[in-house]
Amino acid sequence: MSDLLSIRDLIVEYRTRRGVARAVDRVSLDVEENTTLGLAGESGCGKSTLGRSIIRLVPYPGKIVEGEIVFDVGKRIEYDGQAVEPGPTDLLKLPEEAMRRLRGEQVAYIFQDPMTSLNPMMSIKDHFVEIIREHSPETTEEEATERAAEILGSLGILPERMTDYPHQFSGGMRQRVMIGLGLALKPRLLIADEPTTSLDVIVEAQILDEIAKLKEKFNLTMILITHNLGVLAQHADNIAIIYAGRLMELADTETLFENPQHPYSQALLQAVPDVRKPDKKLAWIPGAPPDLTEPLPGCMYHPRCPQATERCRTEQPMLTKSPSGGIVACHLYS
Ligand code: SF4
Repeated sequence: MSDLLSIRDLIVEYRTRRGVARAVDRVSLDVEENTTLGLAGESGCGKSTLGRSIIRLVPYPGKIVEGEIVFDVGKRIEYDGQAVEPGPTDLLKLPEEAMRRLRGEQVAYIFQDPMTSLNPMMSIKDHFVEIIREHSPETTEEEATERAAEILGSLGILPERMTDYPHQFSGGMRQRVMIGLGLALKPRLLIADEPTTSLDVIVEAQILDEIAKLKEKFNLTMILITHNLGVLAQHADNIAIIYAGRLMELADTETLFENPQHPYSQALLQAVPDVRKPDKKLAWIPGAPPDLTEPLPGCMYHPRCPQATERCRTEQPMLTKSPSGGIVACHLYS
């Protein structure tokens, strides 16, 4: 399998009144075609900023400072009388007009709160027709409606509900609509950013199963961003653990769960309930993530790490091959 996405040495910063916060700090990772990569870590660790960087929609005052985001463009993108040909392309070098075409058509992003992304004045059907015809004007309204019905049907929404408005749907149904809109243009990559966080666990499980089926049906590659490692256990092929904007460990899901190498990964997993081990004692991680406007010397995790040594306080660990086969940034392995 080849890589659909390769991120290299990405740096993203927020210029705040308190100083510059480096939310993504030289992250490099690859996402293979037709796989799901989970991005995990505590709130504020930079995983959403990393996800949004891919579509170049980092919220103000964020800025992509350096790096490469190479995406394998699937079909020709035409914009302003120019074109981007299929093949690996650094998205950070594309003009904004080309990115506008690429968003939705090739890379879709599902945000956490569907209400802020849906127009309360438009029916669900109209949302679909607008997005499909904007990117593909030759599609008739009838064809766009048919496509909407097919996608929504896969998500358990009956065609007769397509003329309803967003407020007439429950939170779970609205999120299904957002997922459907994300898939309306048949993207190659779907980035789902905490897509079920505000929902109850039963609806969450149903929606994640529906996403998994759609992933198969549409041959999607996916990035699933969540603080919930339990969700990734079931739905990710590989997991990247992010802390203070840095990649701490990357491994396939089974390896990460069975044999986590980084002390932060180990601590996160200690906080995940396991139905197979009802007696498991859940632990929490003492302390809080560092203030990114005042980066620490050495390993960013050292104030919370039970295995920290003097070296950890002064020297930043680089990513190396971990004994379990993934990669890890920790002095215990270098
Ligand atoms: Fe802990 Fe040191 Fe490894 Fe950082 S480098 S995780 S402080 S042992």
